[in-house]
Amino acid sequence: MFTYSINFATNYIISGVNSYKLKNNKPDFNRIAIKVGSNVITQEDGSLNDRRILRIVEDVAILYKQGIEVVLISSGAVAAGRSEVSPSKKTNIVAAKQIWAAIGQVKLMSSYQFLFGKYGIQAGQLLATKESFRDRRHYLNMKNCISAMLENHVLPIVNENDTVSVNELMFTDNDELSGLISSMMDCKSLIILSNVDGVYNGIPGKKGTELIARIDEESGNLDKYISSVKSGFGRGGMFTKCSIARKIASHGIDVFIANGTRDSIITDIARRKNVPCTHFVANRKRETGVKKWLSHSDTFAKGAVVVNDGAKEALLDDKATSLLMVGITRVDGFFRSGDIVRIVDEEGNNIGLGKAQYDSKKAEQDIGEKLSKPFIHYDYMVINEKNKPVLQE
Ligand code: GLU
Repeated sequence: MFTYSINFATNYIISGVNSYKLKNNKPDFNRIAIKVGSNVITQEDGSLNDRRILRIVEDVAILYKQGIEVVLISSGAVAAGRSEVSPSKKTNIVAAKQIWAAIGQVKLMSSYQFLFGKYGIQAGQLLATKESFRDRRHYLNMKNCISAMLENHVLPIVNENDTVSVNELMFTDNDELSGLISSMMDCKSLIILSNVDGVYNGIPGKKGTELIARIDEESGNLDKYISSVKSGFGRGGMFTKCSIARKIASHGIDVFIANGTRDSIITDIARRKNVPCTHFVANRKRETGVKKWLSHSDTFAKGAVVVNDGAKEALLDDKATSLLMVGITRVDGFFRSGDIVRIVDEEGNNIGLGKAQYDSKKAEQDIGEKLSKPFIHYDYMVINEKNKPVLQE
């Protein structure tokens, strides 16, 4: 039944996709990340909304046929699995979610593969965990994998590996994952699709409340507008969406929060058509390479080192400065060589982050010593934007 009705619908739509051109409104990007929330593609009982998925696929196919590289980040696995099985009472909630993800991820990918296949597009799956981003080698493996898929015209569909990532090993939600992926893959834009039109300046639907069309660096603190309430099946809410969007925009990527239940929302945004959405305007400065990876690593830091005032001043200076053991007064936490650690001043302010060249035991032994090998090399360090307006390159 599903196959028949979807077949009928896709045959009808495909002819449209092939003749559709973004002609005069050709998007100004060649690579884009699109995040699809659970609430967009699932029905009230959690089962997959195949017609909605078809609409998303159709929209993505239009971009794809224009030669635009698309990386899709899709939620929906846990919800789809939940609609299929009810684990026994003795199964705890963590295990239940693992089971749902194990079932739902297959269903989710089957739908995508089937529907993209109708447009002659091969879709492939990539499942990530937080650990994949913590270790630079894993990070590069993942980046190489997605790059190779794109080069070979395979459309990557990314999700968290919910079967194995539990509790503290989890991403906050797929919004966080989409931010990491768009930054890692140097996308020009990220579109985050949920079931609302964007960020409002009050309670949506209430008199006087309006959609905020544009947010940039000058927009100030938006916390008072944004509800931390979550809706439906997804893990994320507008609060995390907004903070991720601002962070990613500050790294030089345009972010759009939009309503994925509106038809052709993706192509409308790509054509810069006047559609309801919130645009987080990209900062013109784009970070690259190691420093970009590090700037996303604040949630992965394993420990911290406290630095004295002299070292703090040197690090905040515009010159390229590595952190030496002589500038360190305390070592907190347990970390291995190669782990990410925070750099903190005597008052406890976060100065930045870097990749430790010594483990915590060795660092502790050598506090204040004049060793030639730095504790954090300048190339593997980022200084907090708040402390230092311009990031070291
Ligand atoms: N990875 C989860 C899933 O596929 C969704 C997480 C989220 O809601 O952001 O169900």
